[in-house]
Amino acid sequence: MTPAPAIQLENVSHSYGDVVAVDQVSLDVSLGEIHCLLGASGSGKSTLLRIIAGLERQREGVVSIDGEVVSDAAGHTEAERRSVGFVLQDYALFPHLTALENVLFGIPDRKTSEARTRAEGLLDDVGLVDRVDSMPHTLSGGEQQRVALARAMARSPRVMLLDEPFSSLDAQLRAGVRETTLRILREAGVATVMVTHDPAEALSCGDRVSILRGGKMIQTGSPEAIYHQPSGREAAETFGVINRLGGERKGDRIRTSIGEVELSTQDPDHPDTILLRPEQLILVASEEGGCRIDRIFPEGSTTLYLVQTAEDERLYVRMLSTETLPADSPVAVRLR
Ligand code: ADP
Ligand code: MG
Repeated sequence: MTPAPAIQLENVSHSYGDVVAVDQVSLDVSLGEIHCLLGASGSGKSTLLRIIAGLERQREGVVSIDGEVVSDAAGHTEAERRSVGFVLQDYALFPHLTALENVLFGIPDRKTSEARTRAEGLLDDVGLVDRVDSMPHTLSGGEQQRVALARAMARSPRVMLLDEPFSSLDAQLRAGVRETTLRILREAGVATVMVTHDPAEALSCGDRVSILRGGKMIQTGSPEAIYHQPSGREAAETFGVINRLGGERKGDRIRTSIGEVELSTQDPDHPDTILLRPEQLILVASEEGGCRIDRIFPEGSTTLYLVQTAEDERLYVRMLSTETLPADSPVAVRLR
């Protein structure tokens, strides 16, 4: 018998007045899984976490933790009585308590020497054993985030919820804190839901990824599937600009202005168009192509080109920045 999912949502909906924040969402997360919830601002990510935590009671649907219903139309288990840890974007540490006292706060029998040993152990796990007596304002953003994680782990929760945990850290700190956090969660084997609005972060952190849009879950899958087999145009567009090319359909292939393409990323609403990511195309210097570069967007390690084709289509092409082409050179677009 397969174990019940650690977190299960069944047709969960929630609204604030007329605003539908979460719309018929179903989701299973297993123990040991890191599930990334990806969506733009206002798509309902935080509301969904608050519903799992029990801080908000959904209007409709069923929430179960470890196979037991914790909230439905008939009843609602309060947040304190759920085995759930929660880390917020702004850490929410108590400013007048030391790092150790903040972690102790998460332990029920916090006055005992066992509690102190455990809290020190948790700070050691996040690499802060020499900062136990530090006040939050003397810690860097990354250190504060790690104290918040240690505090959330203190009750040995089965479920961990992280709401944009790295978004207020600068890029240099972020990678290190992310590494520490994911290692601790994997070692603890908890079921984690991590919210992010950063597509690259969702793909690199999640064992699975779900895309929320306007309160609806539009796709759930492995990072590879989410990126390479989007459920439709909206899911595809979550990862930035995308090209939509029309053409002549021939079985499972489509003939476009730039060649024949296999239909693996078809827009279900438009059977004879194909969606191609900018990096699936390549620009080559060519007098025959009849294409010209309209705009250049430097992205750091890559460069995005907007190209006007001879057929008057506009295509986005992404190249390594080391392969840069001059703006006024004649080019052709090919499939990579
Ligand atoms: P996200 O975390 O993805 O940015 P939220 O879950 O915070 O999205 O919000 C989803 C929608 O619900 C938004 O339209 C937001 O304005 C609305 N909303 C969230 N919390 C409240 C609240 N306490 N009262 C009224 N509206 C809310
Ligand atoms: Mg939010």
